[in-house]
Amino acid sequence: MTYALVLHGGAGARPGTDYTVQKADLAKLIETGQSMLVQGQSALDVVTWAIEALEASGLYVAGKGSAPHSMGGFELDASIMHGPNRRAGAVAAIEGIKSPIQAARAVLEDGRHVMLAGTGAQIAAKAAGLAEVLDPQDYYSEHVSHGSSESADHGTVGAVALDIHGELAAGTSTGGTFNKLIGRVGDTPIIGSGTWADDTVAVSCTGLGEAFIRTATAYDVSARMRYGNVALDQATRQVLDEVARFDGDGGLIAIDAQGNISMPYNSDGMKRAAVSDRMSPVVRVFEPED
Ligand code: ASP
Repeated sequence: MTYALVLHGGAGARPGTDYTVQKADLAKLIETGQSMLVQGQSALDVVTWAIEALEASGLYVAGKGSAPHSMGGFELDASIMHGPNRRAGAVAAIEGIKSPIQAARAVLEDGRHVMLAGTGAQIAAKAAGLAEVLDPQDYYSEHVSHGSSESADHGTVGAVALDIHGELAAGTSTGGTFNKLIGRVGDTPIIGSGTWADDTVAVSCTGLGEAFIRTATAYDVSARMRYGNVALDQATRQVLDEVARFDGDGGLIAIDAQGNISMPYNSDGMKRAAVSDRMSPVVRVFEPED
């Protein structure tokens, strides 16, 4: 029985910051996610569940932990993709919905479109019955408590999974970069930049979104593997070198169809957790771990 699950809580970890709470949260989620996969749940469902939990925790710059844009409001981005048939759903600059990943999943399930933005995304999410944020200033309270004032702190969340049925899925959710302009959309909701899943590999990215858009990072991992016959680890390192060439920093998590895992970053650290049928759960922020 082959399966694998990797989670990330953003590539903006700063040396000297205490991530004990985030690590405990990731440890709990990776173990629960592992048992869901062992029980036969689909990669798509486990990815959706894990990201929703990360959003709701308020411990990352996504969902409840999101930081405000330049005019004080909260616009969030998310996307999800299912490998076998490349069904995908994304929401950009969505307001007033607690779980952007559930909103993205609703777009995927509806099937008519891949990405909805702004008011349309919010209307669709409400129509799908998703929970709303009634008082944004009160709900998005956590960003003050996780050192968010520095622009280098990327706290996007993401998940990639391979289930026991051999299917891959990937998803990503973010409150975006700090001090972003109102209306700014990063790589997270862009299928092929922040998120990608096909029959070869599932990828979720975190970092300076503009550089990840310019390099089509998530899709490029798959392209290098398929066209260049490059192994997973080599492909993920090559795409991060491209990101760096465009002055970007960050990281990504990836799983290939054989259950191999890769989670490189070129920032100081990346909150991450992984498990597979060959590997007990690991939770790390820095390398070597402090
Ligand atoms: N990639 C995200 C964005 O640019 C930020 C992050 O990963 O923290 O919106």
